[in-house]
Amino acid sequence: MIVTRFAPSPTGHLHLGHAFSALTAAAAADRFLLRIEDLDTGRCRPEFETAILEDLAWLGLRWEAPVRRQSQHMADYAAALDHLIGAGLVYRDFRTRREIAADSAAAPHAPAEVVRGGTAADEPERLARGDAFAWRLSLDRARDHLGARWDALWFEADGARVQADPARLGDAVLARKDFPASYHLASVHDDALQGVTLVVRGEDLREAAHLHVLLQALFDWPTPDYRHHRLLTGPDGKRLAKRDRAQTLRSLRERGVTPDDVRALLFPSS
Ligand code: GLU
Repeated sequence: MIVTRFAPSPTGHLHLGHAFSALTAAAAADRFLLRIEDLDTGRCRPEFETAILEDLAWLGLRWEAPVRRQSQHMADYAAALDHLIGAGLVYRDFRTRREIAADSAAAPHAPAEVVRGGTAADEPERLARGDAFAWRLSLDRARDHLGARWDALWFEADGARVQADPARLGDAVLARKDFPASYHLASVHDDALQGVTLVVRGEDLREAAHLHVLLQALFDWPTPDYRHHRLLTGPDGKRLAKRDRAQTLRSLRERGVTPDDVRALLFPSS
């Protein structure tokens, strides 16, 4: 039984790239789920969610009810974060983005955004001051916690057995002060909760799978298989983005394009 999901964020209208992703996931599924990843309340809007449901139905997709809307489950993510805090696997990072960038510049061999660290020496003072912070997963503590299991983090990606190498992402941000979940934590939590067995998404998230497999081990959640599809590009050769109005499903529909036309365009040989 293959369970897949499509998990858009309602920050704009769906474009052809989303249609490709959703149709690819649905085609691989015995059970197809839809999840609205609307944690970023500053950028997500209910009208985009309505439009997403309309556009996917117009494409001919059907999904199981109920649709999971992440903003309605903040307590779940807070509990997951508490679990990691209780196990001592995360630390507070009080640095600003600028400070982090300056630190990476001082370590030229580290890719710019890969952060490694630990609890700040002045944490009590900073907490007392009410300074903002992010919760980061400590790879060092995760490795100690898992022991021999750290070397057995194998998963299936794009038809091959892959050994997870979470170090390539550094100590990932899993939450922020007053905000219990990042994309990584919420997405891995929900994939486990919803019984997703195959994650189908764009190849821009190929690296993220290494972190997600580590999180699954830390929570004793099952590891799904992963499949990464190519990213569609626009006429300018750049990957499609929500701001490219001409490629949105809405504007195609307004110009008389049919769902069959979209499928034929996206899957020419089928
Ligand atoms: N909400 C994420 C996005 O729109 C989903 C990524 C995923 O499928 O895990 O990119």
